[in-house]
Amino acid sequence: MDNQQCHQVFPLEAFEQAATPFYYYDLKMLKATLQEIKHFATAAGYVVHYAVKANGNARILSEIARAGLGADLVSGGEMRAAIKAGFSAESMAYSGVGKTDWEIRLGLEHGIGCFNVESLPELEVINLMAGEMGTTAPVAIRVNPDIDAHTHRYITTGTAANKFGIGIEALQSVVERALQLPNIRLRGLHFHIGSQITEMVPYEMLCDTVNQLLDDYARRGIEFEMINVGGGLGIDYGQPDAHIMPDFESYFNTFKRINLRRGQQLHFELGRSVVAQCGTLIGRVVYVKQSRDKKFAIMDAGMTDLIRPALYEAHHLIQNLTSPSTDLETYDVVGPVCESSDVFAHDCPLHVTRRGDLIAIRSAGAYGESMASTYNMRSMPGIMFSD
Ligand SMILES: *Cc1c(COP(=O)(O)O)cnc(C)c1O
Repeated sequence: MDNQQCHQVFPLEAFEQAATPFYYYDLKMLKATLQEIKHFATAAGYVVHYAVKANGNARILSEIARAGLGADLVSGGEMRAAIKAGFSAESMAYSGVGKTDWEIRLGLEHGIGCFNVESLPELEVINLMAGEMGTTAPVAIRVNPDIDAHTHRYITTGTAANKFGIGIEALQSVVERALQLPNIRLRGLHFHIGSQITEMVPYEMLCDTVNQLLDDYARRGIEFEMINVGGGLGIDYGQPDAHIMPDFESYFNTFKRINLRRGQQLHFELGRSVVAQCGTLIGRVVYVKQSRDKKFAIMDAGMTDLIRPALYEAHHLIQNLTSPSTDLETYDVVGPVCESSDVFAHDCPLHVTRRGDLIAIRSAGAYGESMASTYNMRSMPGIMFSD
C-alpha cells in the first residue's frame, strides 16, 4: 500500500475494515492544535471560545471543553450539546440573527456568559424575558464594521450588505438603549467579519475600527468590560501537511494593535482553525468512468457528507490512499448524489485510480460532519477516531 504521499499517517488496515464513507478524526492533532492556541492566547491574556457549528461531534466537543476553551453558539441545540460536553455556561457566547424565545430562555436559565445581540428588537425581547425570569441578561452588541474580508460571498459576514450585526451608524442608539434597559447588563461589543480569512489585513482593519469605537465611547464616558473579535482564521486547504496549523502566533499578535483599556478582556471565537485539519473524509471509488473528454472517479462519498465544494466552490486536497501506481492521472472526483454540483474536484491529479481504492478528502474537520445531510435518503457518514 502506498501511503507515502501523505505526511499524515492513516491507519489503512482499520480503514479497509470500515464501511465507507466516514470521517476520520486525528485526536492527537486536535490536542496539539488546542495546545498551540492556548499557548499564544493565554500568554496574551485572551479568552478563546470554540465555534461549535464548525464541528459539534460530542467527542470533539469534550476534548475542546477539557482544554479550557469556552463555547460560541448559534442555536439552542448547540447550547445543549455544549453543556453536555462540559463547557461551563459562563464560558458561552450565543450569536445569531434569529434567536427564538425558547433559545433565549434556555440561555437565561443556564446563565450563559453573553448574548451577542444582532438587532434592537432582539435586545428588547431579551430584556423582557430576563425581566419575566427575574434575572439580568449579559449582552454584547454585534457590530457590523463594514469590512470586506475578501473571502467567498457566502462566508463574508461583516459588510453592510449582509444580515449580521448592527451598522456603525445605528450602534450608538442601540448601546444607549442597552444601558437604559433594566434587565440588560451591557458587557461589550462583538464582531465577526467572515471565515477562511488567510491575510491579516482585514483583521488589522477590524482592530482600527475597534480602537476608533473605544475612543468614541470613552469620550462619552462609556467603558466596555470586553471586546469580542469573533473568528474566521483560515487554514491551508491546498497543502495541509505543510501547514497542519495556521499561524496562531501572527494571528493573536495582530490583535495587540487594539488599545485595550485597563481590565478590558479580548475574546475570540475560533471554529475552522481549531478542527479543520484533524478531520479527513474517507470514501471508496465505486466506478472509474471514461467519457469523451474526462475520466470520472465516482465515489461513495458525496455532497451529503461534505457540502463545502458544492456550496462554496471550496477546494480540498484529495489523495488516493491505496493506489499501487506512482503515475498521476487527472480525474473529476464526484459523488453519487443527483445534483450536478456534487463534485469534489475538477481535473484533480490522483495516482492511477481503480474501483475500490480508498480516497482521502483532507482538511474536512470543519463544516464537514456538521453540515452533513440525508438528502437522497442517504445515511449519515460514519465516524472513526484515532487513539
Ligand atoms: C461561525 C462563527 C464563528 C467561527 O468562524 P470560523 O470561520 O469557523 O472561525 C465565530 N463567530 C461567529 C459569530 C460565527 O457565526
